Amino acid sequence: MEQATETKNFIEQIIDKDLAEGNCATVCTRFPPEPNGYLHIGHAKSILLNAGLAKEYGGLFNLRFDDTNPTKEKIEYVESIKEDVKWLGADWEDRLYFASDYFDHMYEAAVKLIKKQKAYVSDLSAEEIRAYRGTLTEPGREDPSSGRSVEENLALFEQMREGKFADGEKVLRARIDMASPNINMRDPVIYRVAHMHHHNTKDKWCIYPMYDFAHPIEDAVEGITHSICTLEFEDHRPLYDWVVREVGYEHPPKQIEFAKLYLTNVVTGKRYIKRLVEEKIVDGWDDPRLVSIAALKRRGFTPESIRRFVELCGVSKSNSSVDYAMLEYCIREDLKLKKTRIMAVLDPIKVIIDNYPEGQSEELTVVNNMENKELGTHTVTFCRELYIDREDFMEEPPRKYFRMFPGNEVRLMQAYFVTCNSYTKDENGRVTEIHCTYDPASKGGNSPDGRKVKGTIHWVPAPYAKQVEVRLYENIVDEELGVYNEDGSLNLNPNSLQIRKNCYIEPYAADAKAYDSFQFVRQGYFCVDAKDTTNDHLVFNRIVSLKSSYSLPANATDR
Ligand code: ATP
Ligand code: MG
Repeated sequence: MEQATETKNFIEQIIDKDLAEGNCATVCTRFPPEPNGYLHIGHAKSILLNAGLAKEYGGLFNLRFDDTNPTKEKIEYVESIKEDVKWLGADWEDRLYFASDYFDHMYEAAVKLIKKQKAYVSDLSAEEIRAYRGTLTEPGREDPSSGRSVEENLALFEQMREGKFADGEKVLRARIDMASPNINMRDPVIYRVAHMHHHNTKDKWCIYPMYDFAHPIEDAVEGITHSICTLEFEDHRPLYDWVVREVGYEHPPKQIEFAKLYLTNVVTGKRYIKRLVEEKIVDGWDDPRLVSIAALKRRGFTPESIRRFVELCGVSKSNSSVDYAMLEYCIREDLKLKKTRIMAVLDPIKVIIDNYPEGQSEELTVVNNMENKELGTHTVTFCRELYIDREDFMEEPPRKYFRMFPGNEVRLMQAYFVTCNSYTKDENGRVTEIHCTYDPASKGGNSPDGRKVKGTIHWVPAPYAKQVEVRLYENIVDEELGVYNEDGSLNLNPNSLQIRKNCYIEPYAADAKAYDSFQFVRQGYFCVDAKDTTNDHLVFNRIVSLKSSYSLPANATDR
């Protein structure tokens, strides 16, 4: 469907103009992750933006690993990234590329620059280069090696490649402008010596191209038309354009920057997540408290909810943080009409219905989703012994407490009216058993004579309920309290993970499999944990609670 120009984001407007002016004939985008960690929600934004634009304009979307820095890269990351991009629904078809596929081409490009006198081999150390570079207010100084002849540079560059030099002994620099107001243009290093094993090219190379040189070449080789990156690369754009122009490509790609996605109270940066993983504060990259894609998936988020979230965030040029509650809003909205509601008791107390015959039971029918009747019904067994949640009973209730207490009549959800008559306690004063009587005429939870009960509480049948483990989460850091302590350690929320081992769910969900999710009455949406669930031990993660005061901001780009 054609959108009006004013509802299009600024990138779409640039693309429209490029197409109209014939700057490009089709649209080709890419997602270029560095395989040095798992992807997070911020990357999801970039993935969905790039893949979405390709789809919108009938173009192509490539997945390309930016593996020019072998020290930090691992195959584990390559595999996880592929899985996550696929899970999000971004389809690179057969266009999976690695920057390292182009190392030969990049080497030739560097040789070309040397021949054009646009690059030279430098003897300066990294420290000296920094010292020569100048500052924002002072121009840089010429590199003493910059006067070398083309022949000499070609020979030295060749020797760099052959391994004649130690790491850091020589670099190749682009010859641009040591006096440029943009420090990135002051003869940037474009190749360095690094005797390192590479996961793809093994030991073929001991020189590696720098990101700012490699990236535009990767884009140009693949025919990328719009190279979308985040704002921190804005000052690198002149260098990007310089490389593309000087190496000489017929269809130069265009770099466009947008603002990174940040979430309040959540660590997004790969560096921070890595620290939490390495310090074993979390259970790996997929710990459900993180916002890595793997963690969101494990916790029970869906690709649809993340797509919706990214859409609502919109695309902008200025950095800001989005409220985590918006992500929660999106998953609630997505699950609302799709999931079956069951009763689950997270902190059980036993209830005995004294006037219900021992050994008897009956099947009650319950609606799977009150807002979506198409999901049908299931049955739940009612019997003499049940569990209810501890918070649904009080010995001495305050005013306006309508749940179970001695002498009070309540409705057991979808079942019967019951009245609490007595209870027992253990030596610590903890309530152990509640005794009730039920009114057989109130079946289905309907009043037999117009008398009203105010409280409705959920329950599970004790002999049939499935015992499960439930994990409840809170944010791992709190921005208001500060992410760091004074000594540099992370200021962690001690309640970020709460484990409840003794929970019970309706037998209906006893056979749930990894990633199945349900609404637990009053408690929220829960998903079967794919990592710790075994054949005889079901573990549920709370994805999100049910209630929220959150409402979409007026400026959310809801379309
Ligand atoms: P981090 O900052 O978390 O370490 P990165 O930028 O180093 O991430 P890359 O693998 O280099 O991670 O990024 C791949 C792509 O994802 C880049 O185009 C980058 O701009 C984009 N990207 C990274 N973080 C975000 C974010 N928070 N929001 C939007 N896009 C992002
Ligand atoms: Mg990076």
